[in-house]
Amino acid sequence: MNRGATAGAAVIVIGGGVTGLSAGWWLAREGIDVLVLEAGVIGWGASGRNGGGCSHHHSPLFLEEQRLWPQLDELLGYPTEFQPNRIRIALDARQFQLYRRALENGAHQGFHSEVLDAKQVRELVPYAPDAPYGGYFYHFGGHANPHRTVQAYAWALQDHGGRLLQHTAVTDIKTRAGKATQVSTTRGEFACDQLVIAAGAATAPLAARLGVSVPLASARAEMIVTEPLAPMRIGGVDGNGLYGRQTLRGNLAYGGGPHEWVEYEDCQQTRAHSTVLQSSIARRLCQLFPKVAHARVIRSWAGFIENTPDGRPILERLSSPQNVTIATLSSVGFGLSPASGRAIRDLVIEGTCRFADLSTVKLDRFAHLEADWRVMQGWLPAGA
Ligand SMILES: Cc1cc2nc3c(=O)[nH]c(=O)nc-3n(C[C@H](O)[C@H](O)[C@H](O)COP(=O)(O)OP(=O)(O)OC[C@H]3O[C@@H](n4cnc5c(N)ncnc54)[C@H](O)[C@@H]3O)c2cc1C
Repeated sequence: MNRGATAGAAVIVIGGGVTGLSAGWWLAREGIDVLVLEAGVIGWGASGRNGGGCSHHHSPLFLEEQRLWPQLDELLGYPTEFQPNRIRIALDARQFQLYRRALENGAHQGFHSEVLDAKQVRELVPYAPDAPYGGYFYHFGGHANPHRTVQAYAWALQDHGGRLLQHTAVTDIKTRAGKATQVSTTRGEFACDQLVIAAGAATAPLAARLGVSVPLASARAEMIVTEPLAPMRIGGVDGNGLYGRQTLRGNLAYGGGPHEWVEYEDCQQTRAHSTVLQSSIARRLCQLFPKVAHARVIRSWAGFIENTPDGRPILERLSSPQNVTIATLSSVGFGLSPASGRAIRDLVIEGTCRFADLSTVKLDRFAHLEADWRVMQGWLPAGA
């Protein structure tokens, strides 16, 4: 390792969200000297604010995601509150058609699902409407508690000798001879042999310091949480354009568009506020679960979703600087985190992912992206 700087690690990971922490844990459990640097506190980004869904059947990491979640508590040594399976209720024919995609994608990859009629939906979901159009029972996916999961990764990482520094923002990355050798932070300089940038929406400005363009747009999304209600048999129920889950305590925690596009620089200012978006979520939640429409909303929050132009992650070890791995997960990073962390471990140690083909999540697919891609997608910041 370059010991010119005051401190350092063989691998430095920028970002203490689920992606960076999972990567750090996978590396530490192999005895690699790893240091995770987090600007604030772990989980302060999207990782502590999401819906907890673990069902990404459109991702090349899907099979590994599904393999790892059921054993994750045991592997980490701490609870994530993972619960398997997912039900999706369709209130009309359009939703029914739309939600069929998950069944088809799952089936292509060997996962069974059931089509539910209105009676079956009512039997499985006591809070469902009297006359839903229908639904699906996916025998894959599931949900977990984002806060428990963030904490579990962080504890497990440290149990294996990995280090975590919170309140340490990376402000610059220094390179020498085609490699990233050192990061400057609000708490000094840290040298590294390998660098992982897993900083959510901040991955773009950090990569820009290396002359690498990462096309990302931040979208502000909100979630609401009700008072606890009697637990349903299956807590992973969504539909009506909403994602979410019933917590083990019984709260309904739900979110879902519309999203507001925000400039990355403005994220800090708008992070905490709740807006009219939460009434839209509450209204649709009442339609999904009319039997508990009386439940009070006890909390709400906003978070920022890091979106790539095609909605798929960017996960790649760069060719220049060749010791830098970039990982930004484009709105599906919570569920994929056990697998994305393992993929990062492979990229860092072996230069290639051993268990999945990552060719569709490489950065060069955006090589010919129009400069005004956000305008073309209609992703202009609110008020622009
Ligand atoms: C409301 C909402 C609902 C969602 N629902 C789901 C869902 O159900 N399922 C799912 O899979 N995904 C969901 N997502 C998306 C998911 O939360 C993210 O894809 C995932 O958390 C990304 O994790 P990450 O670790 O890559 O990024 P983040 O969680 O954003 O973590 C990045 C970290 O990097 C730190 N950082 C930034 N800059 C620096 C710097 N310069 N120096 C040091 N540290 C820095 C930040 O403080 C942050 O903690 C949702 C997101 C939101 C907002």
